[in-house]
Amino acid sequence: MDSRGVLLIISGPSGSGKGTVAEILTREDDYFLSVSATTRAPRDYEIPGEHYYFMTKEEFLSKVRDGEFLEWAEFCGNCYGTPKKEIMERLDKGQNIILEIEVQGALQVKNEYPEAVLVFMIPPSAQELKKRLAGRGTETEEVILERLERALIELDVANMYDYLVINHVSDQTAEDLKGIVMAEKQKVSRNKEIIQEFKGEVF
Ligand code: 5GP
Repeated sequence: MDSRGVLLIISGPSGSGKGTVAEILTREDDYFLSVSATTRAPRDYEIPGEHYYFMTKEEFLSKVRDGEFLEWAEFCGNCYGTPKKEIMERLDKGQNIILEIEVQGALQVKNEYPEAVLVFMIPPSAQELKKRLAGRGTETEEVILERLERALIELDVANMYDYLVINHVSDQTAEDLKGIVMAEKQKVSRNKEIIQEFKGEVF
């Protein structure tokens, strides 16, 4: 089978649980979660370099100018970007790369790298979404409202994604995603060379 890794993009409303699912996937040796750059302030529990590379808007924009991002976007007043270095190298080495990014960035990547697999994740219900967002206790009422409004916009863009995953239980959702990655690796479009080689060996 195709030895290149799969570029797996997970998007979904804040509170969909995509971060937890991505973290579960990284427990596998062949999955790597890309660390993004952001201008947002760190939350109490966030570790620089592990959850995000936190930086000022000036630093961020200078990296944009230097072409250091595979994609970048503004989300609820802050900038977020995926560092390009490493990702392509790791894909060539066979590692599956997870990008946990919002929809504008996801579509930018798909445009440049059509093999990217776009997964949209939602919680079991809108009620559950509101409960999870409020339960986090890390955001103000105003930020929560802004993120819910943003969720409505993102749901429209979900129509352009490859897969919809409903996140009931994180461990099971991670298994579902592994299944999607396995199926992607077996796509004929990724394995044309194998068919050619096989033909060459028939006689
Ligand atoms: P949060 O502030 O909750 O960590 O993230 C807000 C949104 O930004 C989430 O939807 C998250 O997936 C998205 N995001 C995180 N990193 C990136 C990135 O590098 N690029 C883009 N386009 N979105 C990102």
